[in-house]
Amino acid sequence: MELPEIEAIARTLNAKLCRRNVKGIRLASKILLRGASGKHLLDELSGKSLKRVERFARYIVMCFEGGNALALYLASGGQMLLYLGEKAPASLSARLDFGNIILALRSQGGSSYLILIKEREIEELPVSRSGGLDPLGRDYSWPAFSFALAKQKGRIKERLLSGGLVFGLGSLYCDEALFRARIDPGRKIERTSLDERKDLFHCIRDLTTEAVEAYGILELAPKQKMSWTFPFPLYVYRRRSAACLKCKTKIKGIKLGRQYAYYCPYCQK
Ligand SMILES: [Zn+2]
Repeated sequence: MELPEIEAIARTLNAKLCRRNVKGIRLASKILLRGASGKHLLDELSGKSLKRVERFARYIVMCFEGGNALALYLASGGQMLLYLGEKAPASLSARLDFGNIILALRSQGGSSYLILIKEREIEELPVSRSGGLDPLGRDYSWPAFSFALAKQKGRIKERLLSGGLVFGLGSLYCDEALFRARIDPGRKIERTSLDERKDLFHCIRDLTTEAVEAYGILELAPKQKMSWTFPFPLYVYRRRSAACLKCKTKIKGIKLGRQYAYYCPYCQK
């Protein structure tokens, strides 16, 4: 799951669950919960009203009255679901009961987790050590991006994916942002011009911000899986051999490191 989708989940939960009280919590596995026992979690949150939901890095953070916050780290493969006015299946990894709405987590692969913290500790949550910027965050600025870029070497798509420049973006967002910035994904960072770097900075911010706005708030339906499909036409991602939507040149797909990169050899240099 890429950062704009995590942001969209946080916004949807904020719109749909705020001011609701926790009626029950059930965890299928102890390893899902960090920093507290299941009993402690229940004691601290039962009956408490949800004040707001926000995103911090890759966490979805639920802040409750009384000063507690429950942060959810959704690993790739993990799923969030909302059950409306119906019973949720017992096979779910975790579930928070908010009356007629149940928020559930399905942790496929097992590396998603929940952590109980105080609201004032949100910014102390462990973040990735790669040191990249949050493209949807307040610290995403041209000086910070330029500084991060100056410390990186190597092919630009690989550096973007590594999280050392910006974090939370997978192959789709990287390929589409590089298409917008007209930069070949295999170009070395040290061979990009100042104007190209600035274009890339803006394209990453615009693409992620526009995606979040386009995703909007999910309308609740019974058994709602919280997932979104990319809201714009794909220009290059997984379009190998298809015609470029701008110039009709065939899109190329090449292996860069462990990942593929898709690009238009005419539009991107
Ligand atoms: Zn093209």
